[in-house]
Amino acid sequence: MQRFTTTLRVRHYEMDALGHVNNAVYLHYLEQAAIEHSEQLGMTMQRYEELGGVFILRKMEIDYRLPAVAGETLEITTWVKEMRGPRSIRCYEIRRQVDNRLVVSAEAMWAWVDRKAMRPRAIPQALLDVFMPPPPLPEAPKPLLCSRCSTPLEALGLQPLRQNGRPNLFGGQQSVVVSPELVETYQCPSCGLQEIFRDSEQSDD
Ligand SMILES: [Zn+2]
Repeated sequence: MQRFTTTLRVRHYEMDALGHVNNAVYLHYLEQAAIEHSEQLGMTMQRYEELGGVFILRKMEIDYRLPAVAGETLEITTWVKEMRGPRSIRCYEIRRQVDNRLVVSAEAMWAWVDRKAMRPRAIPQALLDVFMPPPPLPEAPKPLLCSRCSTPLEALGLQPLRQNGRPNLFGGQQSVVVSPELVETYQCPSCGLQEIFRDSEQSDD
């Protein structure tokens, strides 16, 4: 979910009778931010034409929280929250630059419409790739290494807690269960050392 922010300075002719930015003017601000965001990602009007469709506004919900006045600089942030089928949900926040306070928050529903048929169509993959890039893959966990010989350990899964005891009659070493508690157990394939890790120890980095 990539956020885009643009700034603008409120003009005097955008005021209402109370000297505040007219409610209707915010629609233009929001639209402008969405267009700039789109262009920054390479999705210009020309590109939309090539893709054969256009986004049409179906619903806009605006929460007016604080008034803004002429001369103020506003920061408009927008991001696409969801794209599913023909629908795109875009969110917006307008903040006063001077104190970062929230002036307006808004959520819009856009529909991707085929230009010729003027019918809603599934949003093309090219747009999904740009607006809804897959989240980065989580880093592969580091292999656990044997504390004695640094060979990567093999997981044995959950095992009762054991402790090596006296050598048995056949020369092998007996291990005795010292606790019924099940713990993640690992064994070194090289030297045979068994190690256990509890959650609290594993998450330490
Ligand atoms: Zn080892």
